[in-house]
Amino acid sequence: MKTAVLFDLDGVIYQGSQLIPGALDTISLLQKQGIPFRFITNTTRMTQQNLLKKLVDMGLPVQLDQVFAVPHAAIAYCRSKTYTRIRLVVPDREMEDDFTEFTLTKENPEAVILGDMGAGFTFELLNEIFQNLLGGAELIALHKNKYWHSGSGLTLDVGPFVSALEFASEKKAAIIGKPSPHLFRLAVQNWSLPPEEMYMVGDDLDGDIGGANSVGMKSVLVKTGKFRQETVDCSKIVPRYIISSVAELPDLLHIR
Ligand SMILES: [Mg+2]
Repeated sequence: MKTAVLFDLDGVIYQGSQLIPGALDTISLLQKQGIPFRFITNTTRMTQQNLLKKLVDMGLPVQLDQVFAVPHAAIAYCRSKTYTRIRLVVPDREMEDDFTEFTLTKENPEAVILGDMGAGFTFELLNEIFQNLLGGAELIALHKNKYWHSGSGLTLDVGPFVSALEFASEKKAAIIGKPSPHLFRLAVQNWSLPPEEMYMVGDDLDGDIGGANSVGMKSVLVKTGKFRQETVDCSKIVPRYIISSVAELPDLLHIR
């Protein structure tokens, strides 16, 4: 069968540390049918190995190359641009393990990869990155979210800092995470299928469905995770299909 499937993880395959009912059966069925699939996520805080371990520990028969988070998409992006000198600005030093093919340096990098530094976003750090950009580096943002819900209320995410750096340097950043097309395109680049033959299954109307629609993939909204009917009713973003959960995907694909 000429088709392939991308899945969001949180709210689609698992919720917290629990698999969504039917997720394992659906994944096993895709594997049995030889239908390529991959998990794409905006998570910036886990190495590829840790993400794989989380899935395998939950019982999913998954391999390393089927896990594609924004940091790995950033790596693929840097490869495609033939960058070798990278400045990696992320809160977890462990993430450097995924970037061993590059020379990680603060001096004259060709690209600056920027994640959410939280309280680590100091004037000094932002000014250094600004200097890197003036020196010719491309700013690669893992995503451009405005804020997130922390325990103590809404908290600035990386997006406002990306905007500040874009404003000062007068250069547009490459945004890697959903809903930017980069994550979708980079995740499927070795499948050589046209986008309209591929499904994207997600619970986030803006990130998953909006992103999939923008690259021409068949978007599938699940009613698990962060799904809210009101959000769907009020949005201009229209999913191609809506199913109650990932358990219904085999019916949609007519596989058994
Ligand atoms: Mg999700």
